[in-house]
Amino acid sequence: MHVHLPGAQAVQFFTSLMSQKKAASDRMEKIVSLCKRRGFVFQSSEIYGGLNGCWDYGPLGVELRRNLKDFWWRRMVRERDDVVGMDGSILLNRQVWVASGHENTFSDPMVDCRNCKSRLRADQLPEKDGRKQCPVCGSFDLTEPRAFNLMFKTFVGATEDESATTYLRPETAQSIFVQFRNVLEVSRKKLPFGIAQIGKAFRNEINPRNFIFRSREFEQMELEYFCFPNQGLELLEYWLKERLRFYADIGLSKDKLHVHEIPPDERSHYSKGTYDIEFEFPFGVQELEGVAYRTDYDLTQHQKASGKPLEYFDEETKTHLIPHVVEPSAGVDRTLLALLCAAYDEETVTDDKGKSEVRTVLRLHPRMAPIKCGIFPLLKNNELLVKKAREIVEMLRGDMAVFYDETGAIGRRYRRQDEAGTPFGITVDFDTIGENGPANQDTVTVRYRDSMEQKRLAITEIPGFLREQIA
Ligand code: ATP
Repeated sequence: MHVHLPGAQAVQFFTSLMSQKKAASDRMEKIVSLCKRRGFVFQSSEIYGGLNGCWDYGPLGVELRRNLKDFWWRRMVRERDDVVGMDGSILLNRQVWVASGHENTFSDPMVDCRNCKSRLRADQLPEKDGRKQCPVCGSFDLTEPRAFNLMFKTFVGATEDESATTYLRPETAQSIFVQFRNVLEVSRKKLPFGIAQIGKAFRNEINPRNFIFRSREFEQMELEYFCFPNQGLELLEYWLKERLRFYADIGLSKDKLHVHEIPPDERSHYSKGTYDIEFEFPFGVQELEGVAYRTDYDLTQHQKASGKPLEYFDEETKTHLIPHVVEPSAGVDRTLLALLCAAYDEETVTDDKGKSEVRTVLRLHPRMAPIKCGIFPLLKNNELLVKKAREIVEMLRGDMAVFYDETGAIGRRYRRQDEAGTPFGITVDFDTIGENGPANQDTVTVRYRDSMEQKRLAITEIPGFLREQIA
């Protein structure tokens, strides 16, 4: 960045820039700390010092992931007539990666810092006075960039030689392409139609960072939408819109999302159009998903390399053709991080006695929230209150994730659920069990996480009320 400002103004500008940066990194630190404290995300193999680029999801994290993946599947597969699903293996025949081009070209440019020995991605280095600099120690003494293949190599079977070599898949898409014929035959779909898949992918990233944003083991949600060549560009626009609608429906607001059209000289050589959907993370605006029109590149490559036909027969024109494909490819972990970053909030609240405190609240969309409803008996040593609360738990748990909590003051219990992102709290009190007369018997207090407002609802109305909110 080149800025020419007079002295005092420059100091003010840079101080404000630094404080913005500091606020962003503090916010990120708080989110990471909440994730650990509340059981969203742990470092993988933590008791052995961890494994760089690998993460485990705890009790709340796994529910959030599941909600996200289920909603993607619902939107992309179940609600549509023109998309079917599949679940391919993580290990594939090595020839798949030769034909797709991954074995030769799936690499990032890497440099070493001669001073501190860090390995760095050449395209992500900061520059000072036009020279690339090591972000770890500040040295300019860097090696020339060289290509580093991101695929994890492994061996299949008992011999550890070249003939037994294959890779952990770096994307899920290729198994869709190589199964194209099988899926087409069993599903009897006509163009245009899609094949969707959610699954793990692995990349030996040179520099995993920003928490779960860039990791070495992650999960993708990918759709390959096959079409006639003349439909490709239009479908690219269609899928971009669909994917933006998806993000709005999981609670990511429009003003935090950006669409970046990749200029032709930066696109893959086979792509006729690519958009990145980006999100404003605390550490910068970064890619959430790529939507790419990949033409007929992948199927053509696999047809050539395998010698097996991967064509489609068009009944109308009585011709064979290799379909073109539009691919929306999203990351589970990145979207989950975006959800957490968008939801994290702190606010100062004042109680009835005038005491102020900071409330930490995850304002997750009820559809995504790991726990939909907390259920609390006002007192834990009153049998009737506990019994009623337990009955409500039983009534709801077949339908949704609920959490029963009887320990501590009711205010504390609400706060714990605020931090977990639970959108509703139900309290069973003396009115519920009829101790204050019949008027409010069998009604409960429902508390809204975001506004902290409360209202009374009949127990029989609870399932309907919650279902409508989380649908
Ligand atoms: P980047 O430029 O950030 O490395 P990419 O353009 O290589 O990503 P794609 O190959 O388009 O990513 O993969 C599709 C999606 O898979 C990405 O938009 C992202 O959500 C997810 N993804 C890719 N690499 C990683 C990773 N290392 N960690 C987490 N998610 C990832």
